[in-house]
Amino acid sequence: MNVVADNIRASKEKILALEQQSGRPEGSVTLLAVSKRQPIAKIREAAAAGLRDFGENYLQEALEKKRQLLDLTDLTWHFIGPIQSNKTTGISENFDWVHSVDRSKIARRLSDQRPACRKRLNVCIQINLSDEKAKSGTTATHAAELCELTDSLPNLDLRGLMAIPAPTDDEYIQIENFMTLSQLFNELRAKHTSMDTLSMGMSNDYGPAILQGSTMIRLGTALFGRRPS
Ligand SMILES: *Cc1c(COP(=O)(O)O)cnc(C)c1O
Repeated sequence: MNVVADNIRASKEKILALEQQSGRPEGSVTLLAVSKRQPIAKIREAAAAGLRDFGENYLQEALEKKRQLLDLTDLTWHFIGPIQSNKTTGISENFDWVHSVDRSKIARRLSDQRPACRKRLNVCIQINLSDEKAKSGTTATHAAELCELTDSLPNLDLRGLMAIPAPTDDEYIQIENFMTLSQLFNELRAKHTSMDTLSMGMSNDYGPAILQGSTMIRLGTALFGRRPS
């Protein structure tokens, strides 16, 4: 019995049902496994079960894990945590995607520091819907400027938006937040044709996220169980 593989199978079934329910083709939603604070053994189980996209929040932890997983050469690594400017070199050198770009300084540094031998870094702009001062993410108002800049930087590929709406069990509020993000995504993508990714939905709200147009859900707990603290 393999709990991670079982969880992955169950999540994939739900994703397929939600894709069908929203009239979208099978495979239109990518499952990103959020492996922060999870042990290497569980990441290996998820990879063995077929997952290829993994998300990490802390640079040092991610580097240590990548070192231990060097034999798995075809994994795609996504940085999804808040970014301090002294971490941009390590992030730009070691990740394929960054979901949490929320200011111009970070975008510029990631582009400047991307190694010449690597493909452009895939970037999502993180949106903060609730405009809470303490949280990461840019406001919907500033997103247009940041998309403009990211699109113009030589070593970044603007792929879309990411958001973590304030947690709530109220499904109406969840739907409303995801609708707002979906609309913003569609507005911006009219201008930036490389945008094909709406990264929204986590373990407790990925159903409404997919129904509102998410193309990438980030699941931690639903796949790996509670994170060890
Ligand atoms: C931790 C984390 C997740 C996964 O959260 P779960 O509720 O465990 O699915 C997704 N996205 C981001 C940005 C995270 O930090």
